[in-house]
Amino acid sequence: MDFAVPEHMQRFLRELDQFVEREIKPLEDAHPELFDHRREWARTDWENGGVPRREWEELMAEARRRADRAGFYRYSLPRELGGSDGTNLDMALIREHLTTRGPGLHYEFQVEFSVVGNFPIVHILHAYGTPDQKALIEPMIQGEVRTAFGLTEPGHGSDATWLETTAIRDGDEWVINGAKRFNSGMHHATHDLVFARTSGRPGEAKGITAFLVPRDTPGLEVPFYWWTFNMPSDHAEVVLRNVRVPNSAIVLAEGEGLRVAQHFVHENRIRQAASAVGIAQFCINEAVAYAKERKTWGVPLAQRQAIQWPLAELHTECELVRNLVHKTAWLMDQKDFMEVSDKVAMANYRANRLACEAADRAMQVHGGIGYTRHKPFEYIYRHFRRYRITEGSEEIQIRRVAGVLFGYIGGDRG
Ligand SMILES: Cc1cc2nc3c(=O)[nH]c(=O)nc-3n(C[C@H](O)[C@H](O)[C@H](O)COP(=O)(O)OP(=O)(O)OC[C@H]3O[C@@H](n4cnc5c(N)ncnc54)[C@H](O)[C@@H]3O)c2cc1C
Repeated sequence: MDFAVPEHMQRFLRELDQFVEREIKPLEDAHPELFDHRREWARTDWENGGVPRREWEELMAEARRRADRAGFYRYSLPRELGGSDGTNLDMALIREHLTTRGPGLHYEFQVEFSVVGNFPIVHILHAYGTPDQKALIEPMIQGEVRTAFGLTEPGHGSDATWLETTAIRDGDEWVINGAKRFNSGMHHATHDLVFARTSGRPGEAKGITAFLVPRDTPGLEVPFYWWTFNMPSDHAEVVLRNVRVPNSAIVLAEGEGLRVAQHFVHENRIRQAASAVGIAQFCINEAVAYAKERKTWGVPLAQRQAIQWPLAELHTECELVRNLVHKTAWLMDQKDFMEVSDKVAMANYRANRLACEAADRAMQVHGGIGYTRHKPFEYIYRHFRRYRITEGSEEIQIRRVAGVLFGYIGGDRG
């Protein structure tokens, strides 16, 4: 076993840092109103459902174009898509590295934008798409085609196999009826990946089908957006009334949609875990630096064990979780993601919890100023708190670990 960061990654991360300083920081500096931690006022289109403002999204698009020109953006994609066949382990190291820098345009939490792209739907279409669906990949990478992910419903989130949206075959077409909730990104989506039951009974994994539905299809409506802990907020409520799509809208195969959904969430779960480790380390580093400066009763806070110990424990936890994330990402490079699903679950829930605890502790060490928006901790907390609920909540991840441990579901116990 070799735990060293591979040489190619060390070089990549050095070059990435140089790129961020050279091409991304100046963009940030030119738009201070978007990065002052009271950002939702500048970033949010309050009169239009609370979704991100166009100027804010355009700035991320410019960062994406620069990252693509510089050869970083597509790193994780296969070579035939202009990428470098970056592995899951590479991506975990990159995500962790980027968030250890703290928040910024290089890795923007609100829409999970990063100068090294995360492309769950591109990977899905590349793996399972028809030729017509694959034709969407390049415009997707360039941000011209945007696909939202519609799995959660008003009545079902954790228990997605119980979803009530149905699709009924009518000749060469399917007619979809139902509703989706927290369907993120619908404000600018060109397509929605809608999951609907086409056969089987509630609770069965088989019989759910994924349909790539163009946003302008009659009957697909967004009545409102949910406003969340973190703003702006692009999490749409979606209603589907007699939405007609051709048979060619199916991704992968009829009845196999759950595999598509699992592919999506597993890609995200490990990436989120890695970014959570990085941001936790950032919070710890900031708290340590502040404790060395700030004096109470004439002595630096850093000399107090009450300040040192919680940070030392978090630092230990960070090291533990980091190793779990690296190992899990490496396992995902060796095996099908479903074979290591319990490891992905372990890494994800522990890392997300750690990020929240580290942000909370950094706030505490900074005292009153830690609670203000002049420091980034409240923003970090608000964002990472979300991951304890989304992409499979903490309880659902623990349930998977327990399922494998007790032999109710398959998986690798190694
Ligand atoms: C900001 C945000 C963005 C999102 N984006 C998307 C998106 O783009 N696409 C999408 O499809 N969904 C999205 N979601 C939805 C998200 O995936 C769900 O909220 C999540 O899966 C939980 O489902 P739920 O809210 O229905 O909670 P429920 O399933 O009702 O669960 C409520 C609570 O009970 C717990 N619980 C449920 N069942 C059990 C059990 N058997 N044992 C123990 N505890 C249990 C859960 O962990 C949770 O804490 C988003 C949500 C948010 C907040």
